[in-house]
Amino acid sequence: MKIPGKIKVLYKEYTVEETANLHDNGGDLYGQIHYLPEKIFLNVDAKEEQKKSTLLHELIHAMDEIYSIGLKEKQVEKLGNAFYMLQKDNPELFEK
Ligand SMILES: [Zn+2]
Repeated sequence: MKIPGKIKVLYKEYTVEETANLHDNGGDLYGQIHYLPEKIFLNVDAKEEQKKSTLLHELIHAMDEIYSIGLKEKQVEKLGNAFYMLQKDNPELFEK
């Protein structure tokens, strides 16, 4: 999988940005999603595979929000890991 600069989720178009200094009260973050400005931030210091995994996690948040699924954080984490492994084990699934 690639990390594109923009990702559409229904009628939203998220801009994907790599940034340093990504943190909240709890410390450093791998990624963060901002629903209103439609931005997904990835920690620039993370390894490439970590960025992909984080991007999938944030995209599940994006789908959860726009389709009103009502996922809990733990469920987002598990689905993120599951999708990460799915694309890793089946690279042709998401290639053009
Ligand atoms: Zn999350």
